[in-house]
Formats: sequence, structure tokens, C-alpha cells
Amino acid sequence: MSKKLTFQISHRYQSMRTGTVKVNGRQLATPAIVQTGSALTTLTPAELKACGVQAIKQDALDYWRSVADYGDLHALLGWPGVLVTAAGSEQAYRWAKPRGRKQDGVSFHDPDNGQLRFYTPQDALAEQKRLGADISQGFARDAGYFAPVDDLNAAAEQNARWLAGQPALAGNLAPIVGGGLLRVRRASLNAIPAAVAGYSIMGVASNVPVKEQSRLVTEVVGMLDETKLRYLPTAGDLHQLAAMLLAGVDLLDSDLAGREAAMGNALVGAERLHLDRERLASDQRLLADHCKCPACRTGVSRATVHHLLVTEQPVGERYLLMHNLFTINQLVARIRDMIAEGQVPAELRKFAAPCDQ
Ligand SMILES: [Zn+2]
Repeated sequence: MSKKLTFQISHRYQSMRTGTVKVNGRQLATPAIVQTGSALTTLTPAELKACGVQAIKQDALDYWRSVADYGDLHALLGWPGVLVTAAGSEQAYRWAKPRGRKQDGVSFHDPDNGQLRFYTPQDALAEQKRLGADISQGFARDAGYFAPVDDLNAAAEQNARWLAGQPALAGNLAPIVGGGLLRVRRASLNAIPAAVAGYSIMGVASNVPVKEQSRLVTEVVGMLDETKLRYLPTAGDLHQLAAMLLAGVDLLDSDLAGREAAMGNALVGAERLHLDRERLASDQRLLADHCKCPACRTGVSRATVHHLLVTEQPVGERYLLMHNLFTINQLVARIRDMIAEGQVPAELRKFAAPCDQ
């Protein structure tokens, strides 16, 4: 767990800002994408770095369920950058039966071996500390965006009790729940101790229309202590990603690069190029003109990637993954520059408009 986390804001533009997170000798330029998903199992740490990845996320519950002692994940994974961990409480809640949702934790049957486990906020904190998290997250109950008001209130009250019973640790992000209700979001926020590093805005899932996500996140961001980190633990599409950056989120989880690569898609500007289409079978151009990603730097053509995909060779998806990761991280780097120069909206709103499907 962090000995000390500092967040220095350099430039502001509307709700957005650029900044630097320094933690445990590591550094992160914000806004930034926290990489999740298949990229972490498919690419080496050096490849991730070459694609502009600054931070990766791991789920503490996955490690806690195992009997092995993994130690510090920077060492285990060979990852030198910032490590973000999730408590994994959402997953524990999904596995739990209603009577397993207790005042002091969650009991569930482990889907791997059927064993009954009881996961508590203290376990989540201790596990994230053991894993060497640079940025960790509080245990949270989240009823979901469209839950009935009573459930949203109950979740906020439960989190408030957990926050009151825990030491505030540096590097820890506290959950803000409450679905689409600003009143409940505010109550959730009021329970958060001043010493936290930032806020994790929960429950803004991909089943919520992006316009509604923008409305809510903009309003929630307006209530927060502006010196603290704003984190959205939700993987989204390019549309959501841009909209959430516009709303002023500093850190945003995403496995977009991997999901698109798995579907055979290359991100090209605000569009998707479907590499499995027959018309690309003899297209000798790069995935995107002038792209400097590790895949395009090898000179690999659309035709080659098309061939690799249709003959089911995994390297095809690897090329797409590297290209997509690089493209997304380049976009976010450009957004950082644009915030610094005070000229964001036109460029970013192009991406915030719906992508082709
Ligand atoms: Zn490329």
C-alpha cells in the first residue's frame, strides 16, 4: 500500500485537468487509462509500456481466493508502472446469495471449488496491501444504477459504516454510490473521510446511456474536493471514454483495446476498421496512416492482419491489441496536451459522438 500519494494538478480546462500522481517512486500523468483485461495476459510489460500504458489494474479478490502467497505484484508480474487494485467486492456480491450479504462482509461459495468464503472490508484492505497496490480501493456495496431507492440508500449506509470502521490509508480511493440519484450520491460522499486520496465513482456501467452518465458524473464531480483524484472503475467504449474524460474524470478503467482486438477491429481515429472484411485481403496500407504503434512500426499491412485473423493465428489479435492500446493512449496523451493548451472541446467531442457499430 502507498506510503504516500501526491496528486499535483498542472492545468485546468472546464471540468478537466492535467496532473501528476506520484506514489511509491512511480509516476502517472493524468488523465490516464488504467489498463484492464486481456492486454495484461497477452502482452509483456515492455510491450504494454511501448503502447503507452502507465497503470494496470488487478482484482484483489482473485488473489485472496487463492491459497498461494503472491507477494508484491510489481515483482510477480514484472510491472514497473503504477498498480491499481480493486477490492473485488462487486464480484463477491454477485456470487453471494441474499442472506450472504452481511453487515460485516460478504459470504459466497467460491465458483472454482464450492468452498464457502467470508470476505470482509478488512480482508480486502489487507490483501491490497499485501499485493503492493499503489492505488487501492475501498470495499463497497453498490446496488447498481437502476436499483430501487431503498437499495441505493441501503448501499450508501452500508458503505458509510464500513468507511467509519476503517483506517484511512494513503493511496486509497473511497467509493461513491447512489445510482442516478444525486441525493444518495451526496450522502455517500459525506461519509468519506477527508484523508482519502480520491474517489471511486461506482455504478456508472455501460448499460447506462452515455448522455445520462455524462449528466451524473458532471454533477458528482462538481461535489468533490477538487484536489483529489477522480476515478471511474468502468470499462467502456471510446464514446464513453471520451465523455467521461470531458466530465473531468482523472483515471478511467478500460479494456476497450482488447475487446476491439478480439472482435478483429482496429481503432482508426474515431472509427473502427473491421480487419476480417474480405475487401482488406489485398490492402497493403498500415492499420492507420502514419501510425507509430509497435505493430505498425513493423510495417505489417492490413492484408497481413486480415490473413492472420481469417486463418486464426493469434498474432493477428496481438497486432490489433498493440495498435489499439497505442491509439487509445495516444488519444489520451493528446487530450492532456489539449487541456494544457485550453482547446479541448471540438477534438474531444468528435470522439464523444457515437462510434460506428
Ligand atoms: Zn498502429
